Amino acid sequence: MRNLRFLIPALAVLAAAPAARADFAGCIAGLKQAAIRSGVAPALAERALALKEPNEKVLELSAVQPEFKTPIWDYMAFLVDEERVRDGRALLQRHARVLAEAERRYGVDRHIVVAVWGVESNYGREMGEHFLPHALATLACAGGRRANFWRSELLAALALVQRGDFALERLRGSWAGAFGQTQFMPSVYRRLAVDFDGDGRRDLIASVPDALASTANYLGRAKWQTGAPWMIEVKVPPGYAGPQGRRNRLPLAGWAARGILRADGKPLGAGPPAGLLLPAGAAGPAFLVFANFDAIYAYNHAESYALAIAHLADRIQGLPGFRTPWPTDDPGLSRAERLQLQKLLIARGHLQGEADGKIGEQSRAAIRAAERALGWPETGRAGQKIFRALGGR
Ligand code: CA
Repeated sequence: MRNLRFLIPALAVLAAAPAARADFAGCIAGLKQAAIRSGVAPALAERALALKEPNEKVLELSAVQPEFKTPIWDYMAFLVDEERVRDGRALLQRHARVLAEAERRYGVDRHIVVAVWGVESNYGREMGEHFLPHALATLACAGGRRANFWRSELLAALALVQRGDFALERLRGSWAGAFGQTQFMPSVYRRLAVDFDGDGRRDLIASVPDALASTANYLGRAKWQTGAPWMIEVKVPPGYAGPQGRRNRLPLAGWAARGILRADGKPLGAGPPAGLLLPAGAAGPAFLVFANFDAIYAYNHAESYALAIAHLADRIQGLPGFRTPWPTDDPGLSRAERLQLQKLLIARGHLQGEADGKIGEQSRAAIRAAERALGWPETGRAGQKIFRALGGR
C-alpha cells in the first residue's frame, strides 16, 4: 500500500511528460521572441535560452512550503552572529571611502548598507548558484503561478546583459531570481542599480562599490531619513498591554508616559515618532522602531528581516547585543555552532555526509535521532541544548 501511494503520482507525471516537454519548448521559443522584440540580440537570446528541460531543482524549491517554523531567536542567532559582526566591521574599514561617498550621495547610513550586504550574500560570498535564465524560464514556463511576473523578470535580466552590465555567464543567483552582492531582482536592478566605480557598467555581481551604492540608492528611494535613528532597544513595564506594532507610531513622550525606558534604564529622551515591536511578546526584547525601519522593511517584507538588519548595523557600529534575552531556555546557534553541531551528529552516526552548516531536512532528522537517543522529546530543532548535550561548546 505504501508503495502504491508513491507509484500513482509518479506514473501520472511520466504520462504527462511528453506533452509538458513540448509545452516547455514552445514556451521557451515564445520567450526568445519576446526577448528579441524587447531589444535583446537574437544571438544572446539563443545563448541564454538554449534550454531543453525545466530546472527540476528550481521547481522543487518553489513548491516547498516551509514546514518548520523558525523561532525568532534562531533566525537572529544565525543572521547576527559574531562572525558576521566581525566581518562587517572589517569591511566597513576596507570600503570606508566608497561607503562615505555613497552616504554623502544617497544619505543612507553606511552601517545599514553593510548590514544588508552581510545578510543578503554574506558580504558577496554566497550569491546563489542558479543560472538565472534557466531558473526564471522554468518558473515562467513550468512553474504554474505568476508566470507573467517571472517572464518579465527574465526579460529584465537579459536586458541587463544586453546593456553590457555583466556577461551572461555571470548571471547566477537564487532560484527565485535575486542575484548579485545585495540580491536585487532583475527589474529592481534595472530601475535602481548605479555605476559607482565609474567603469560605465552597473555590475552588482563583481563590483563592491556598485553593489553598496545601489543598496544605498534603494534605501534612499524607500524614503530613508538621513541622520534619523532606525531602532532602539527599550524596556516595557511588567505586564505591558498597551499599543504595539510597527505602524502604530506615537511620539516618544507617549511611550515614556506608558512607562517605557531605554534598555539601559535611561529615559527615552527626544526623537521622531516610533512604533513598538515585541517580536517574542512582552517578556522578550522590546524595540521602538522609526520610519527608517520601514525603509529596511521595504527591502524584504518581513519584520524579522528588518530587525536582523537593524541589529546587525548596530553591532557593526559597536553597540552591544540585546540587553533583554529572548524568552527561551534553549537559545539559537550561530553559523559556527551549526557547523559544529553537524560534525557532532556525524561523529555519533546520526548524520551522513559532510557538514556544511546548513540545517536542512537531513540535519533535522539527525537531531531528532539524537534527541531520541537521549530520551528527549523529538523537535528536530538546532538549539543550544542539543548542541551542548552532544559536547558542543
Ligand atoms: Ca561599475
